[in-house]
Amino acid sequence: MKCELCDKRKPKRYCLAKRTSICPVCCGEKRGVEINCPLDCQYYVEGQKHHQQKMMQQRIKKDGAKSYVRKAELYKHNPELFAHLEKGFVGIFRADKNLTTKDLVSGLDLAHKTLETEKKGIIFQHQSGNNYADEISNHVLGIVSHFKDNPEVGESRINLDFAILVVKEFLDEARFYMENDPNPKSYFIYLMRYHPEEVVPVQAESKLIITP
Ligand SMILES: [Zn+2]
Repeated sequence: MKCELCDKRKPKRYCLAKRTSICPVCCGEKRGVEINCPLDCQYYVEGQKHHQQKMMQQRIKKDGAKSYVRKAELYKHNPELFAHLEKGFVGIFRADKNLTTKDLVSGLDLAHKTLETEKKGIIFQHQSGNNYADEISNHVLGIVSHFKDNPEVGESRINLDFAILVVKEFLDEARFYMENDPNPKSYFIYLMRYHPEEVVPVQAESKLIITP
């Protein structure tokens, strides 16, 4: 018997998403990218944990621990903002798995530039012509505006300087993944672990009712 995905190697791991056994090489290469792994798969969860620890150690070695301390401090001030941004990135990625960390970096860079321009008192939205990057930038600016300009968010309200710091933090982190991780989608996979797919309630009823 051979692995269904590569038709070469022995299938040794039961894949929950494919409902069949696949080989460890396919599992390692395709999990979270081509395979929509559920979060109760031990291979996926353990593999991600291990990989991210490795990335974190690499980044600390390169940029020092300050990068993580800074992020933790910003996060503490407004976890909601972080969650909104991350969920948005994950949502865009789930809708189109062709998206890469590089697109995210471009999008965050655009949003960062736009916010820096706003700081100078000029309202101008930078665009790139890369649809993915523009979509990400729009998403970031929409969330930022929600937390910055909407009095209804109450204590979660942020100012422009805080928004610039947070966007810069995501930009630096994504850029590190882009430059150091051979997997071109790794940063999205990293974020996905924190935001497992939300189960959308099936609206079977409304579909069954046929109005004459
Ligand atoms: Zn295989």
